Parts: sequence; structure tokens; C-alpha cells
Amino acid sequence: MQSAMQIADRCVASFHYTLTDDRGEVLDSSAGGQPLAYLHGAGNLIAGLERALAGHRAGDKFQVTVAPEDGYGAHDPRLVQVVPKSAFRGVTELKPGMRFSAESSHGPMPVVITAIRGDEVTVDGNHPLAGVTLHFAIEVTAVREATVEEVLHGHVHGEGGHHS
Ligand code: ZN
Repeated sequence: MQSAMQIADRCVASFHYTLTDDRGEVLDSSAGGQPLAYLHGAGNLIAGLERALAGHRAGDKFQVTVAPEDGYGAHDPRLVQVVPKSAFRGVTELKPGMRFSAESSHGPMPVVITAIRGDEVTVDGNHPLAGVTLHFAIEVTAVREATVEEVLHGHVHGEGGHHS
């Protein structure tokens, strides 16, 4: 009765997902590709999604809405900065949407340019999904027991996992 196994700690679960925002715009999807495999209980997924998957079995389809605090966090205005164009030495054309690695007191931080006005460039170091309410449509495709090695490493090995 392998197929009846419920998702719980020390399980590897695989699932297809489609992620949309409040307006129904698709932000990400596994459709047409491999399902995502993760080790349950290891913090591999955002908290709200991991919690919603617990107890489900292969074949289950469900929808879950995840608030920012259970997702990628609230948008932190302290991570938004305005810097002069001269800070981007060697870059000939700056455009909104361009990604850079900025020096911060915690080491390199990925930032994205969100606006350019005259000599002032606004960069945002928040996760692109910070502050966004996430709507997931989930289809669980497989649930199996994790190997001892996977539990020790804290991630999935093999198909859809870390090492192939
Ligand atoms: Zn490993």
C-alpha cells in the first residue's frame, strides 16, 4: 500500500504546482517539467506550503493560499535603496529589472533595479515574492520514505533532488 503513504516528516514528496498571485497571473509552474521533490520537515519549502502538504497522499489535488508571513516574508522597505548611477561602474545601460549583486554587511546580496530617475537608481534587495500572497494549485505525484542519507543531508537525492 505504498501509494497510501501520507506526507509527514522524513518523507520525500513530489508534486506539481502552479503559483499565481492575487490577480491570477501565473508566477511559476512545474507544468510541462519534472515535479518538484522535497524532504518534508526539513524547511526545504516555504512554511505555509510545507504545512499544507502534510497529510496528503499521491494523487491528491488541492489549492492553498499562503500569506507573505508564511511565504517569502513581508516587503522590507529597509532593503530598498537609492544609489547614484556611478555605483554601477562598467555597466553601459541600466534598466529596471536588471539584477546585480550588492555588497552588504551580511555579504553579497542580490538586488534588482526597480526604478531609474535621472542619476538616481532605486535597487530592491527583497525577495521578488516578498509581500506577495501566494496561491498554489498542487498535485501530489509521489510520496516515499526518505533515505537515512537524505535525512542527514536535509535534502532530496535522486530525481528532482540535489545530487543526481
Ligand atoms: Zn546530499
